[in-house]
Amino acid sequence: MGDTRPAARLTVLSGPSGVGKDSVIELIRARSPWVWLSVSVTTRPRREYEVDGVHYHFVDRDEFDRLVAGGQLLEWAEFAGARYGTPRAPVVARLAEGEPVLLKIDLQGARQVRRAIPAARLVFLAPPSWQELERRLVGRGTDDPETVRRRLAHAREELAAEPEFDVTVVNHSVVRAADELVGLLGSPALL
Ligand code: 5GP
Repeated sequence: MGDTRPAARLTVLSGPSGVGKDSVIELIRARSPWVWLSVSVTTRPRREYEVDGVHYHFVDRDEFDRLVAGGQLLEWAEFAGARYGTPRAPVVARLAEGEPVLLKIDLQGARQVRRAIPAARLVFLAPPSWQELERRLVGRGTDDPETVRRRLAHAREELAAEPEFDVTVVNHSVVRAADELVGLLGSPALL
């Protein structure tokens, strides 16, 4: 019998805004608590349902800058006026123990992880269709046309990044996408 433990592996979940990354992660949190999710630091304000230390570590700009200056972030990026970053030490410790690690980060972050850790597996969460993503981003139609136009242009750019990724998971349903992702965490290295 071979070693049945999952391969030590850093998996990055990324994809366009509005595709449903948060819903997929929340389902994994609820149904597969053994999956270790990296907790990012962010300078954005906490949303009501979020728990400090669980969804994010909420820090001010000075603290964030200290972490960057101290080389304590594996990657970081600015998104919609706030900064987000992945604390390096917990990720490195988990990987050293041979345990799988899952990061949910934006595209800029995924590219940095690719450079820092070439063996990372990058997973692109894709919408079932452009029309579906458009529908989610336009939402209830309460935003002004210029905001909607910018959001759609940004989403088109983000979709174009798909070929940079190792695997695409299509978000037909949150349950299926979460199952596929959890399956990937346990599967042997592709490289
Ligand atoms: P939100 O504010 O909606 O929680 O997240 C905004 C965006 O930031 C999402 O695309 C999310 O995946 C991304 N994000 C969350 N944490 C990190 C991180 O540590 N690094 C990077 N690069 N992006 C992150």
